[in-house]
Order: sequence, then C-alpha cells, then structure tokens
Amino acid sequence: MIPFNKPYMTGDELYYIKDAVARGKISGNGYYTEKCHSYFEEKMGFRNCLLTSSCTDALEMAAILIDIEPGDEVIMPSYTFVSTANAFVLRGAKIIFADSAAQNPNMDANGLEELITSKTKAIVVVHYAGIACDMDKIMRLADTHNLYVIEDAAQAIDSYYKDKPLGTIGHLAAFSFHETKNIISGEGGMLVINDERFDNRAEIIWEKGTNRSAFFRGEVDKYSWVDIGSSFLPSDVTAAFLYAQLENLEKIQARRKKLWNFYYKGLQNLKKEGFLELPDVPEYATVNGHLFYITCNSIQERTDLISFLKGYDIHSVFHYLSLHKSPFYVKENESLELVNCDTFSNTLLRLPLYYELDTESQNKIITLIDQFKKSR
Ligand SMILES: *Cc1c(COP(=O)(O)O)cnc(C)c1O
Repeated sequence: MIPFNKPYMTGDELYYIKDAVARGKISGNGYYTEKCHSYFEEKMGFRNCLLTSSCTDALEMAAILIDIEPGDEVIMPSYTFVSTANAFVLRGAKIIFADSAAQNPNMDANGLEELITSKTKAIVVVHYAGIACDMDKIMRLADTHNLYVIEDAAQAIDSYYKDKPLGTIGHLAAFSFHETKNIISGEGGMLVINDERFDNRAEIIWEKGTNRSAFFRGEVDKYSWVDIGSSFLPSDVTAAFLYAQLENLEKIQARRKKLWNFYYKGLQNLKKEGFLELPDVPEYATVNGHLFYITCNSIQERTDLISFLKGYDIHSVFHYLSLHKSPFYVKENESLELVNCDTFSNTLLRLPLYYELDTESQNKIITLIDQFKKSR
C-alpha cells in the first residue's frame, strides 16, 4: 500500500523531548521555543518569529494585529483551506474571494485591483503547494491602496520569490507544522512579523493579552492584562519536537524536492500527449517539494483515476473545495462565479509525496497513470 502521506520522524524527536522534560519547564516560551525562534531568525532570515499551536492560530493573531473590525473587507483566494478565511471571519471581516490564475491555483494578481473598495483592509495570499504568488505585483497594489498583506505560508517553508524566502515579504506571515507539512510537530505553527510596528503587540496577544514576556525580561515590575489575546503559544514539548525536525531541514528538503522533480520529469510524456497538466512554476518562484499535483481534463477522469490507483493500493487525493461554494459562505452571500478556482477544485489531484517514498513506488505510480490513460 502506498499512502498519500506519512509523517517523517527524524529519530531525534524523543531525545529533545526528553531534554525538555528534564529541564523541568514545559509550558510555552521555554528553552526549545527560544531555540526554534533563533533557528528561524538566524538560519532562515526571518526578522521576528513566534511559535504558535497552529497556522490557524498564527492567522488569528494576524487578524487581531491588523485590527480587523466588523465590516472590514479582506481579499483572499477561494482555493484555500478554511482557516485562511475563518481567522478573519472570527473578527467580523467580510471575505472577498479572488479567483485563481488560469495556470495555477494561486490568486490571480491581475484580477485583484477591481476587488478593492474603501472597506478593504488586507490581502491574504496563499502560496499554494509552496509556489510563490506574484508578490511584487501584490505588494505594489497593497502599497498604492494602503492595505496589509498577510502571507498564508502554511505550505511554503524553504521556498522563495526572487531569492526572498516566502514569509518575509508581507507585513505578517503564518506557517504550519501540522503533520501533513514538510517540517512538523504534530500540530504547530508560527507567526512571522516583518513589520516592526507589530513586535510589541504580537508578544502580548501571544501571551493571553498580558505583558508577561516583558516581565520575564525584567522590563516591567509586574505583569498585567494590557490587551486582548489568547493562549497562542505551544508547549515547549512541541517546540522540542520541532527543533529535531529543524536540525534536519536540509536533508528533508533535499529528499522532498528530489521526489517532486522525479514526478515532474516522469510525467512529461503524459503532459505532451495532453492527458494531464503539470504544476506551473513561474520564473520568480521555486519548488519546495511540499505537494505534487496533476490536473486532469475533467472531474470524471479524476474520479476514475483515483479509483484506478486505489485498485492498486495507491492513495491519491483531490484538494480544496471552492470556499465561495461552501455551505457556510453560500448561506450568507450572493453566488460568485470563479471559474479557475472551480476548475482546480474539480480536476486537481495530489499524488503521494513523503520523505520515505521510494523510486520504485514513484515509478509504479507513473506507469499506472500511463496505463490508465491507455485504457481510456
Ligand atoms: C495546513 C494549512 C493551514 C492550516 O494549518 P494548521 O497548522 O493546521 O492550522 C492553513 N492554510 C493553508 C494554506 C494550509 O495548507
């Protein structure tokens, strides 16, 4: 059986967890949290990071930080995970869904300007499959209209836009370390603060609306309730797990990118024959091996391919259902026509991709897709 995903354990997780336990302080913002922050800041070039319990949490922090209020409009792609939208809906925002580009599921930067109104407060970009959105265009637009840009970089660790790491471009960015991502801690995430105006408040919101962090640094003589906030920080046990993964980041990434490229090359013939489309990687973007997808010619063909592969114990899965067609959105909003988003929703198929996937399995998958095509 070839599963769709298998979380990769580096083998060092228990060592660091044991050490975290031995240190005797396992709540948030401890020794390993600090080590992870330093890793991201020093080794990966992020300006200021805060680990969170999930990417969802990091997005919720972002919504609080930019002071989303009822009536504010937030533009984001419809082809994304629910958390991208929920984080802003929770603060009363009205979500304005943008269509995907024709060539890839990322939001089409060319269609954005017409969605901006006097109520627009932010644009949330999602770097689907870890492949960058057209950030120069989006940042310029945001600048012109005085909007915040939040990067939902859940899938985008170790990926770049013109040599800039994703997650360092918008005012704020959110990463995920959920077990389905490249670098994992079970559940986990991180807020990246690129605009220094948010530094102080981010720390307060992170620590339940208190200035506890400043207190522990000796900057204030008591800690108090100073703002809204929540318990967004993960335990140091989670951070210890994450640290083991971070130490292996290069190895994990090298492997995942190799697997991604193997599919990309191995499926070229089927693309040339017009049976499927392969991921579009714009010249400004890189591949981080987060997920590999193909797009089929129709939903029927995709459904048949999924069950064909299933017959050989290979688990392939489709991805997002257009959020603008979700029961929750439809209940309160007028219907929207987002053609490209619907096309990806209906035809995109993700193939197994995880650290321990071997060449033999990949060859088998590629051969079987070819066999399926010939049987049509
Ligand atoms: C995984 C993912 C999330 C949610 O991450 P959690 O850490 O599970 O909260 C949000 N947005 C996108 C695009 C994702 O892929």
